[in-house]
Amino acid sequence: MLLRYRFRLYPTMPQRVSLARAFGSARVVFNDAVAARKHAHAEGLPYPTMAVLSKQLITEAKRTPGRSWLGEVSAVVLQQALSDCDRAWKNFFASVKGERAGTRVGPPRFKRRNGTQSIRFTRNARFAVLGNGRLRLPKIGEVKVAWSRALPSEPSSVAVIKCPTGKYYASFVVAVDEGADFLEPLGDPEAETGIDLGLKDFAVLRGGRVIESPRFFRRLERRLGKAQRVLARKAQGSVNRAKARLRVAKIHEKIRDTRSDWVDKQVKAIVRENQAVYVEDLNVKGLSRGRAAKSVHDAAFGMFLARLESKAARSGRTFVKIDRFFPSTRLCSVCGVLAGPSGLEGLKVRSWACGCGAVHDRDVNAEVNTRREGSRIVAGGHPDTRNASGGDVRPGTPGRLRNPREGKNEEPARGGAVSTVPKPGVSVL
Ligand SMILES: [Zn+2]
Repeated sequence: MLLRYRFRLYPTMPQRVSLARAFGSARVVFNDAVAARKHAHAEGLPYPTMAVLSKQLITEAKRTPGRSWLGEVSAVVLQQALSDCDRAWKNFFASVKGERAGTRVGPPRFKRRNGTQSIRFTRNARFAVLGNGRLRLPKIGEVKVAWSRALPSEPSSVAVIKCPTGKYYASFVVAVDEGADFLEPLGDPEAETGIDLGLKDFAVLRGGRVIESPRFFRRLERRLGKAQRVLARKAQGSVNRAKARLRVAKIHEKIRDTRSDWVDKQVKAIVRENQAVYVEDLNVKGLSRGRAAKSVHDAAFGMFLARLESKAARSGRTFVKIDRFFPSTRLCSVCGVLAGPSGLEGLKVRSWACGCGAVHDRDVNAEVNTRREGSRIVAGGHPDTRNASGGDVRPGTPGRLRNPREGKNEEPARGGAVSTVPKPGVSVL
């Protein structure tokens, strides 16, 4: 599987100038490609291919006075900007046709100077991690890296990112073997849990164990809202607006880092203590609609599930995603009758009584059902349970390694199907 490893970069002043040029050129090529395809669409012309765009927007554009500066930037960076744009269009078309799981995505939008900037170097670009620990980037130089850990193997690509707060990062894509962080299997057959992601608490685990939603979710959400309202009141182009924008960017950064650290901690503990985890593949978007700490909370669910799956795979644990239409909340875990709360009204019900006499806490009952369904699927060797890990890059490992671009232009494709990673020595296929 592919993971991202993110490290802080400390470019020198001249390197920052070169990076700014590369960011700008990549942005221009990306935007030219968006414009070219919009134009073709408006004129009823065929969709221009990557090869056509590459020739037109890079090779030929370099010879024009208006775009001659493209020649000062690594060609790979420009090609990668084109392929980002291509991917964004493909995601959009797939989404329109309903071939793509997850939230609807819109067509690519023009990139702006103010946002997060990024460029990508592939192996073809001959980037290198040098013996002295510096990162050599073509046409940029040897950049200082703050290595917080070693890369497990040779990276296949590196993205250089500049956040709106002015910090630089290198995000390496590295192939990691499944089972790379292998943990000794737990002998205890009870060491497995369902996970019910919830409205009231972040999650409920086996035996009614609760992972509470951390307080900072709400606090940061409030702070962000306030800063965004201040920003909205500042005049366009003013110095104060720039300051307010920086303030918003800093809060976003703080949210991302805090959330990432917190999610990692939860994921590590769950994987350490359980041989198998069963989660409902829920509609993350709809779940916490209407709550106060909405976006901070919602984003944590997605991150939590993606990292849990990835960590379970690397640790040799079983991970099963249960179809979102499995009625985990409505099933009585005692008698098996569909009697629980349903619909929008049902979302508010905390506990309910079944006709059989059982009284259920909504989330505790859902966890039991999810866990049973999960072990039933594993025991039955469901044909679709093999983890379909393709070329997707999952936001990986330790805290603060998440690529801030992820989730904006692309997200890991998630099918509705069940996926598991088999227990070591047990073939699920
Ligand atoms: Zn019952």
